[in-house]
Parts: sequence; C-alpha cells; structure tokens
Amino acid sequence: MSDLQRIEIEVQGVVQGVGFRPTVYRIASELGLTGWIYNNAVGVHIEVQGHKLDSFLPRLKTQLPPLAEIEAITQKIIPPQTDEQTFTLKPSQAGNLSAKISPDVTVCDDCLTELFDPASRYYLYPFINCTHCGPRYSITEHLPYDRASTSMANFSMCEPCRLAYDAPMNRRYHAQPVACSTCGPQFSHSFSDMASDILAGKILAVKGVGGYQLICDATNSETVQRLRARKHRPQKPFAMMVLNTKRAAHFVECQDAGMVALTNSARPIVCFPKKQGALPELVAPGLNTLGVMLPDSPMHYLLFHALLGGPSGSDWLHQDCKQALIVTSANPGGCPLIKDEKEAEKRLSDIADKIVHHNRAIVNRVDDSVVRVIDEAPVFIRRARGLAPQAIYLPEEIPNTLALGAHLKNTICVTRGREAFLSQHMGTLNKREAIQFYHETISHLLKILNVKPDCVAHDWHPDFYSTQIAASFEVPTFSVQHHHAHLAACAAEHGVTAPAIGIALDGYGMGEASAAWGGECLKLQSMAFDHLGSLKPLPQPGGDVAARQPWRMAASMLHALGRRDLIVERFGHYPQADAIMGLLQHGTHALPTSSCGRLFDAASALLGVCEQSTYEGEAAMKLEALVTAPQIATNGWIIEHGNLNLQPLFERLIDCDPVSGAELFHGTLAAALVQWSTQHAQATGISHILLGGGCLLNQMLSEQMLTQLKRQAFTAYYPRLAPPNDGGISLGQAWIAGNQLMRSTSCV
Ligand SMILES: [Zn+2]
Ligand SMILES: [Zn+2]
Ligand SMILES: [Zn+2]
Repeated sequence: MSDLQRIEIEVQGVVQGVGFRPTVYRIASELGLTGWIYNNAVGVHIEVQGHKLDSFLPRLKTQLPPLAEIEAITQKIIPPQTDEQTFTLKPSQAGNLSAKISPDVTVCDDCLTELFDPASRYYLYPFINCTHCGPRYSITEHLPYDRASTSMANFSMCEPCRLAYDAPMNRRYHAQPVACSTCGPQFSHSFSDMASDILAGKILAVKGVGGYQLICDATNSETVQRLRARKHRPQKPFAMMVLNTKRAAHFVECQDAGMVALTNSARPIVCFPKKQGALPELVAPGLNTLGVMLPDSPMHYLLFHALLGGPSGSDWLHQDCKQALIVTSANPGGCPLIKDEKEAEKRLSDIADKIVHHNRAIVNRVDDSVVRVIDEAPVFIRRARGLAPQAIYLPEEIPNTLALGAHLKNTICVTRGREAFLSQHMGTLNKREAIQFYHETISHLLKILNVKPDCVAHDWHPDFYSTQIAASFEVPTFSVQHHHAHLAACAAEHGVTAPAIGIALDGYGMGEASAAWGGECLKLQSMAFDHLGSLKPLPQPGGDVAARQPWRMAASMLHALGRRDLIVERFGHYPQADAIMGLLQHGTHALPTSSCGRLFDAASALLGVCEQSTYEGEAAMKLEALVTAPQIATNGWIIEHGNLNLQPLFERLIDCDPVSGAELFHGTLAAALVQWSTQHAQATGISHILLGGGCLLNQMLSEQMLTQLKRQAFTAYYPRLAPPNDGGISLGQAWIAGNQLMRSTSCV
C-alpha cells in the first residue's frame, strides 16, 4: 500500500534494564505496527512499520517507564518490508559500548503492594524488584546489563520467575535481579527477630543494598549512647529513618523542596530543620538540623512491618507509626563501607549485638546520598546511592578524561563525550581500605563505561595519593589547582564558559607558592585562572592539628588582634596554651592559612561554642545552629590590595554572647564576601559569579550571599548537581583537563 512507512530509530540514554523494550513493544502492538527492537551498544535500535507512524514517538515519549531517560533520538525513513507480520524483541547486540547503567532505585509502588499482599508470589520477600525498581549499580560487574554480568548470576530462576522474566508484557520482563523466596537470595535472620532485638534496645548490623548498616531505635537514649560509645563517635549527627512523611513531620520542619527530595526514588538522607525535643538530643547534638530518610529498600519496609507486629494489608504504610530508627553506615570512621560477610564479622562484632547477612553479593559499595535545602533547592552534601553513576552534562564534548579528585571526601570523575560520571563518595584517601576502594572504583567505572582515558587530571598537591598515581595511567596528566577545580565544577554544571569571578570557601587546598589557601577570589578565563585575592591569612599554630582544635585558631586571631592577655584568660585551661603563644610569637610551626573553614573555627571557639572538634565541620555547624537573624557589623571588614580582612569583625566578637556573635559573624562574613566579589567583578567588567567549596553547605552564609548578589544584579551560580565540598572537585578537574588537552592537541 502506498502509505506504508518504515522508520529506523536510535535512542540513547538510560534505556537498558529499565523496561524500555516492553514499553515500545506494547505501544507498537497497540498501534498495530510491525518491526523490531533490540539493545545495542549505544542504547536501543527500533524499526517500526505501519500506516500510522506519526503517533508512535510522541506516545513513547509520554509513556516512558519511570527509570528510563532519553538523551537523544535519531530517526530516518527506510524502505518498508512487505512480508513482516509482527513486532518482535530481538536479542541484544554487542559492540562498542556507550550505554549506561541506572543507579540503584528504591522499591516501586507496584512492588510495595505485592510485598504485603499474601496472594502475591513475592509476599514478604526482601529482594522483590521489577524493571521499575531495585538494585542496579551496586550489583553490576560490567555492561551490557544482563543477569550474567550482575551478582544475581549465581541464582538460577525458578519456573514462575523465568516465565515473568521472558514475558514482554510483564513488569519483570528482563528485570535482571528478578527472584523470589524459592530461587533468590535470603537474609540470615528473620525480620521478627530483628524487630524484637531493636525493640529490646540492641544494635544490629544489617547488610543493605550498598553495604552494611547499623540499625537501632532512635527514640531510646540509652541505645543511642551505647552506639556512640561503641562507634567512637561522640558528637557527629546520626541520620534517622522513618516509615513515611507523616512521621518525619513529628521530628522536623518539612520544607517543600526537602520533601520532594525525601520522597524521590533515590531516597537520599535530607537534612531538615529539627524540631527541638522530639528525639533524644544525642541523635544530632548541638545542631538545628536532623537528617531524615525514608525506607530505601524492601528490607527496610519489612523491618517496619515487623516492628509494628506484622499488620495485614498495606494501609499501615501510609499511617503514622511511632518507630524511628537510626540507620548509619557500619564502617569504622574514615573507612569505606563494609560489603563482605567475613569483613563484617571481623570488624563489626564489637559494635553490633547481632550481624545480619544476606547472600546477594555487593559488587559496588554505595553509601547513602545526603542533601540539604539551600535557597529553596537541594544541594548535595554527599552524592552516592540512587545518583551514582548518573551523568552530569558538560557544556561541550571533551576528550575522555579521568579526574582523580583530591584527598578528603574523595570522588573520581570519568568523562565520555559530553557526559561526566561522578563516582560515589569514597572518603578520605588516608587508609589502606580507602585506597583499595579508590582503585576498585577507578577500574570499575572505566570498565563499566568502556572508557580509555585520553588524559588524567589531579590536584596540585604533590603529597596527595591521588596526585602520586596520576602518571601510572601513561597518558598526558594535567595538574589543576584545588579551588580552580571547585569553581570549574560549578561552571561546568551551569554551562558557564564566559569569564567569571569565583569565590571558593573551604578548609584547605594548595595554592600558589605552596600557600595554604581556603578563602580565595579567582578570575576564571579560558580554563586558566588569575588569583585576585585571599582572606587575610591567619597563622595555624601546630599545623593540621589546628583543624581539629578550633581554640588554636581563636588564639591565633586574638594574637593577631594584639590581645594575648585574652588567650590565657579564655584558653589557659589547655596545657598547650603557653606553647601556642610561643609558636604565634615566633612564627614557628604556625603556617598562615587563608582558609574560610578555619575562620569559622576561630569564631566558634572565640564565642565558646566549640573549642574542640570531634568531626569535620563541627565548629561551623554548631555555630550556624545558633543563627536565626544574621546581622551585619558596620565597618566589620576591610578590602585592601584585593584581599579581604575580617579582623574588625573579630574585634566585635570578643565581647559577644554566642547567639549574637554567631549572627554577627554569619551576616558580616556574607556581606563582606559579596562586596569583595562584586568589587573584583566590577573592576574586571564581569557579571558572572561562581561559588564553590564546602563552606557553602552553610545555609545562612549561602542564602545571604545569593540574595545580596541577586539584588545587585549579578548572576550567581551555586553548585547543585555535584557537592560544593571536595566531593565535587573531580568534576571541575575533568572539565579543565579535558579542555586543556583539546587545546594542546589542536595547536599541534
Ligand atoms: Zn518494582
Ligand atoms: Zn523464583
Ligand atoms: Zn576544597
């Protein structure tokens, strides 16, 4: 017939292992079209033929399965095949891979209903999943994504599971982790036993999706205290899991943007403003925020079900339930997540009263993601489960680049064309286990993405482990300054390629002439930077130890203000106080730092809020917790020779009480940083201002800066897709190095 048409369609994106082919099959069948579909190296290949082709693609786009993501579609008209009668699903074709793996996704509503339906084959089965939900990245060895390349390879499907897996119209069609209680993985203990232990105040270590977690009753002060003592974690906040948003509202002030993030299928921990007195103070001592998450796997739902005594039906899922659990990664501080049974038994027997295993292997460890809301949108504190390895799109294509990150909170980044894949959070590279995890992640991410890097990016610091291994890849290496990388990460995600002024605020990064930078104003242009100024450097008495002892920075500030008398008065109770005065006086072992993080430490200790830190960021977080209305100190800062001096503010803080001091510090610092950046912007004729660095996770500081910059008609860019802290550095390194390689080769 004359109007018979055939089109060939290539779809790229997250289209494998997410129920894409069954959806295409269904739509084609409904429209009476013939043809075929198969997975190939770049995504899926479709050919459809019929008399009504116009509605096919629009319908596909509006009826995509929940986890599918289309990045590009190309189509062309080809000659019809006259003898074709049906639409068929053809086997995958291998080739040069550029497809993607979906992150792990929480259980979907359909599976959740089946989980608690006694008539379902999957009733109370903790590993229930379908093409719309379940583990992906954490179980995948390599692509193409099929069962043999996952840790489900050892479980052979029973007949009913096989039938579901093979039926194109079934929700479990080619759901690689499909399994049931007859043929699939199992937990070592029953959920009723786990629930009784939790209710009795015990601490459990339970193997989850991406690693072992410690789980206990968050409402039991004695248990929380015991967990703190056993984990050697006296102050650092714990995150809490509740069944649903109704219960979350008992503990925190739910903001709209936070609720969207909380209920997202990635199931991150969301830090909300805490309702005081709703939980034992020990859960998040001295802070005004509390990290909350909803169940992220069927296992967690089954645990709540057992804690409630096994109610029937599924109405209880939406009702308020008083249980609140602490759920925290079980690894000892500074070590990566634990994923293997033997390691768990060895390392967790002193912490947990019982260790619960399951026999589905974890291929990739993935920690919980953590976000907070700043300026009415989420920002990542940690980007991991549910998000890694989702691509962030670069403004333009660059050569394949491997960026090795820095040192703290490390991640790596691998680019492929315009896609930048930021790894899950791996932690600080100072322990054998962390370094092993780091190497595992580098080789796994390169393998899974099928990327051979054309160049490698690393930090300027010669002593960082990440720098030391850069040459081993035997491709050109590019050394990228730490704060330049922070700001380039922000530029890359927002597509800013024009010259921009950047303000980087963090703890430490090596600057020019090996200086300890951490509060810098840079001009970014053509993948290079000019250093325009620093926060006025302050000696760091005793070196790195000052980062854990904020009182040393307060003493240093008092010394700088000529108030040595106050050092003895305020900090004389520390045996090292005299020695510190000596170091400050002689300028020995007290290298100056322009770190904004250390300035927070100085203010926090000077105001008596936190003199000694037990975790990174403690002094700043506790100081922020006191602020409700930031104030600006008149004449509180001086801008001289392009640098910002906040000593006048500190003169004022000496006599402040903690609350008014915290408000004065935050308000004045924000106003000073705004004036500093806008002066440089005006002097250089630039209107784009980039922000980066871990201090931007301070809500008060960031919101003040963003509001004031907007008011003054500057375009301010704030990191949203990658964490502003060192977890986002590798993205910036990759963007700079890839561009530098491109330029150097185009010059040859
Ligand atoms: Zn599902
Ligand atoms: Zn089965
Ligand atoms: Zn940094």
